[in-house]
Amino acid sequence: MSAVQDCLFCKISAGVIPADVVLESDSAIAFRDIDPKAPTHVLVIPKKHFADVTDLMSNDPDLASELLTLATKVAEHEGLASGYRIVTNNGEDAGQSVAHVHFHVLGGRSLSWPPG
Ligand code: AMP
Repeated sequence: MSAVQDCLFCKISAGVIPADVVLESDSAIAFRDIDPKAPTHVLVIPKKHFADVTDLMSNDPDLASELLTLATKVAEHEGLASGYRIVTNNGEDAGQSVAHVHFHVLGGRSLSWPPG
């Protein structure tokens, strides 16, 4: 595992900063968002650091599949059979606030579209 200095999600992955972990795999970890936007709001991150989806897909596209696999397991674990959203904010204009790639898994209520 690479821990990038001052990366919040690397510290969560390393257990240095606590998180409410929902599920974990060899390569990824899923934990509850500290500021949930829906009844279920879980973040799925790789244990290895990538800044965003562009970085991830350029360097380890197979890992993206593992992250989405864990995201679907989170949805099942959380009982979101009636629907859920997987979203990632990539870069400043998209509103990405933590520069460690993550997928939001949102559900438990009706979700509007399009996003703001
Ligand atoms: P984004 O804005 O797409 O980069 O998403 C970052 C997410 O990380 C936001 O939804 C934050 O609420 C969440 N977040 C920030 N700090 C923590 C933390 N310590 N534990 C859990 N979630 C966090």
